[in-house]
Amino acid sequence: MQSKDLYSVTGASTQHGSLSFQPMPEFCDVALPVPLDMAFTYRVPEGAEPVVGGRVLVPFRQQRMTGVVVELHDRKPAVVTKNVQSVIDPSPVLDESLLRLGRWIADYYLAPVGEVFRTMLPLAAEFKRVIGYRITEPGQMALHLAGMSGSSARSRRTPDEQATEFRVLDYLGGFDGELVREEALRSATRVSRSVLAGMIRKKWLIREDLSAPQDATRTVRVALLKSAEGKLNANQQALVDTLAAAGGKVPAETLQSLEVPRTTLGTLVRRGLVEIIEEPADFSVSRTKPRVSPFEFDFNAAQKFALARLQQGVEAHKFSGMLLHGVTGSGKTAVYLAGMRSVLEAGRSAILLVPEIGLTPAVAADLHQVFGDEVAILHSALSDKERAEQWHRIKRGEARMVVGTRSAVFAPVADLALIIVDEEHDASYKQEETPRYHARDVAVMRAKMADAVVVLGSATPSLESYFNAKKNKYTLIELPDRVERRPLPEVEVVDMRLEFQETGHEQVISRKLAAEIRERLCRREQVMVLLNRRGYSPVVLCRTCGKKLECQNCAIALTHHKREHKMVCHYCGYTAAVPKACVHCGSEYVYFLGTGSEKLEELLHGMFPQARIARLDRDTVRRHEDFERTLSALNEGELDLLVGTQMIAKGHDIHGVTLVGVVGADVALGLPDFRAAERTFQLLTQVAGRAGRGQTPGKVILQTYFQDHYAVQYAAKHDFIGFYEKELQFRSWMHYPPYSALANVLVRSDNLDDALRWSGLLGKWFDATRHEGVRVLGPAAAPILRLKRDYRYHFVLKSPSREKLNTTLRAMLAHATQQKIPRTQVIVDVDALWLM
Ligand SMILES: [Zn+2]
Ligand SMILES: [Zn+2]
Repeated sequence: MQSKDLYSVTGASTQHGSLSFQPMPEFCDVALPVPLDMAFTYRVPEGAEPVVGGRVLVPFRQQRMTGVVVELHDRKPAVVTKNVQSVIDPSPVLDESLLRLGRWIADYYLAPVGEVFRTMLPLAAEFKRVIGYRITEPGQMALHLAGMSGSSARSRRTPDEQATEFRVLDYLGGFDGELVREEALRSATRVSRSVLAGMIRKKWLIREDLSAPQDATRTVRVALLKSAEGKLNANQQALVDTLAAAGGKVPAETLQSLEVPRTTLGTLVRRGLVEIIEEPADFSVSRTKPRVSPFEFDFNAAQKFALARLQQGVEAHKFSGMLLHGVTGSGKTAVYLAGMRSVLEAGRSAILLVPEIGLTPAVAADLHQVFGDEVAILHSALSDKERAEQWHRIKRGEARMVVGTRSAVFAPVADLALIIVDEEHDASYKQEETPRYHARDVAVMRAKMADAVVVLGSATPSLESYFNAKKNKYTLIELPDRVERRPLPEVEVVDMRLEFQETGHEQVISRKLAAEIRERLCRREQVMVLLNRRGYSPVVLCRTCGKKLECQNCAIALTHHKREHKMVCHYCGYTAAVPKACVHCGSEYVYFLGTGSEKLEELLHGMFPQARIARLDRDTVRRHEDFERTLSALNEGELDLLVGTQMIAKGHDIHGVTLVGVVGADVALGLPDFRAAERTFQLLTQVAGRAGRGQTPGKVILQTYFQDHYAVQYAAKHDFIGFYEKELQFRSWMHYPPYSALANVLVRSDNLDDALRWSGLLGKWFDATRHEGVRVLGPAAAPILRLKRDYRYHFVLKSPSREKLNTTLRAMLAHATQQKIPRTQVIVDVDALWLM
C-alpha cells in the first residue's frame, strides 16, 4: 500500500542546489514504473545531487530503470540499499504541482505512482535500453561437454531446449567472453527469454544491463555566416546573400537546395567565411503550409457571451469550471481559440485537449495561423524524439499554447490559466491501460490545483458533465444555434423491420436512402454514409454445425476482410486464412454474414457506378496523412460519396455534404452495456451534425431496427435535454453514474483455473465486506470471456460514496496481494467506460 509519508515533499529538498548549504541527504525514495504501490529507497552516492521531481537511473532486479525521485531523506531503511547509478535531471522534470497531480491520479485510479509518472513524462527517447550477455567459464565447459557427448540422457530439458541452449553457448563462445547485445543474440539463435533466464540460473551466462540516459535532442546542420569579406564568385555571393538575408543562420539543407554547385558551401567553409554547426532541431514549425484564410473571430451573440464568461473566469485567477454545450456547427472551436489567444496575450498558458482523430495537419495549420510559434502540437503520429523535443519546448516556456490528445493534459506549462477539453464526451480521453485515467477528469483536477479555468465543450455532453453543470458544479453555457443561423438537418427515421417486411429481404441500404443518395448525386452534392463496423463480413457461420469462426486468442468472431483475403480479429489482430470449409465439422456450407464498411462501399459502387466513392476506417487510414488526404479530397469536391466508421462522425467541417445516411449505427443498443444508449445518441447526433454545414440545408436518413428506442427518437429530434432526462431516470433506478461511483474489477489469466480460483477468492472477500456501503456484482464471466489469450471474470462495484468505493478497492488489492494474485492480473478500472 502506498503510504502518504513516502511522498511528503519538503521545500528544502526541491530547492536543493548551489544556494542551499544543507548537506545532501543520504537516501532518496524513487517511484519506479513497476506494478507495485510503493517507492523504493536508494543511497545517494558521493557527489550526486538528485532532486525531488527529477529522474534518476537505478538498479532494480537485475535491470536498470529510470524513476522519479519523490523524497530525499536521512532515514536509514532496515534493508540494504543500493546506490543511485546516475542522476539524469539536475532540476525537476515534474514540478511540485505535477507531482501532486500524479499522486492524485495514483490515489483516485489506484495506479502505481511510478507508472503514473512515466505516463506523465513523454521522455522515453532519453533512455536507451541496452542488454548484453556473455558466456562464463561454466558455460564454456558445458559447451565443450555438449560438443563431445551430445545431450545428456538424464536432462529434464526437451531436446528442443537443449538444442537452443547449445546454439546460444556456441554463438556466445565465438565472442570469447565479450558482451553480445540481446537483439543480436536473439536474432541469431531464436532463443526465448525464458530459456535465457534458465541458462543464467545455471550460471552459464551473465546478463548485463548497460542501459543509460542518452541525449535525445535531434540536431540539424546549420550554416553560420562568420564573415562576408573577401572576393566571392557569383555562386558564393548568392549563398552569402541568402545567409545574410536570413540573419546569418540557415539550415545547411536549405543552402544545398539553392541553384549553385554543391561544392560552393564547402569552399566557403574552408575559407572560414561560413561555419557548419549542429543545433537542436526545432519542430515548432509544422511541415504543412498554413492555410490562407485565417480564423476570423466574427462572433454571434452567443459566442460573444461564451467568450466573455471564459475571459472573466481567467482574469479571476481562481478555479472555475464551464460546460460549453453547443449544437454541431455552432462555432465552439472559434471560442476556444479566441479564449486561448487572450490567455497568450496575458503572457500565461493554456492547454486544448482534442480527441484522437481531431488533430489533422489542416487543424495544425490553423493553430499556427492563430498562435504562430507559441503553439506545441502533441499528436499520436509524433516519434518518441519529436515528443520529447516538444515537451522540452513547453518546459522551457517557448510554447505556451499546447494542443494535443489525452496525455497533453500533463504538458509542463507554467502559469496555467485555461484548460479546454473539446468533445469532452469522447471515449478516447480514457486511457485503457494502467494508469486508467480520464483526461477530462484529470483536466478538471489540474485546473483546480492551478486555480485555472476548465472548459468542457460538446454538442453531446456526457451525462456526468451535464449532471455536474445542472448541480452548479460547472457553469452551463449554451450555444443553441448554428453559425450564420444555418438550420440543423432534418432527420428522417427509416424502420428497417418494415423495410424487410415490404421488400421480403434484408436490406443494407433502404429504398429511401438509395433514392435520396441518387437525388444528391444528380445535384452534384455530397453524401456521407456511416456504418460503424469495418471489414467485409463480421461473421462467418457454418450452416451445418452452427458454429462461428472465432479468434484463437479471443472469444470473438473473426471478420472477413475481402480485399486483403483474410480473416481478422479486431481485438488482438490475429489473422487466419479465409475458410473454404468449416474448421469445426468440415462442412462446405460456410456463410459470410452481415455487412461491414468494406462491403458497404462495394454495394454503393454497384448502385452508383458513376459516383466517386472513398472509404474512411482503420483499414484505409494507416497513417495520419491518409485521413487528411481523403477529407481534403472531399472538401475539394473530388469525391461524391464518403463511406466510413465513426471516424467520419467527428468534428469535420465539410460544407458540400448535404446528406448523411446512417446504416446500422444502432448495433450498440443490443450490447449489454449501461452506456449503450448514451453512446448511440452521441454517435447519431455527431454524424447527423456533418450534414448541411454549408449554404444548402442538410438531411439525415437514419436506418434503424430500434425505431422506438429513446436514443434514436431523441437523436432524430436533436433533443439533447429530452434524452438526458430520460437517461438520467434509468441511471438513477439502476444506481449507475452519475448517481454512483463505479469501478470494474477484472481478473484475468491465460490459465482458466487461475482465473476462476482468483475471482472466487476475491468474491468471498467481497462477500465479507458488503456492509460497507458498496454494491458488488459478480464474479461473473466478462461479456468477452476470452481476450488476447486471457480468460476474464469481473466484478462491478457501485457506491454513492467515492471514498467508500476507493477504500474497498484498496483493501481488495491488499487482499489480492496477500493471496499471491499477481498485481498485473487484477485490473481495477475506476469510472470504467466499458464493462465488456
Ligand atoms: Zn461446421
Ligand atoms: Zn483475437
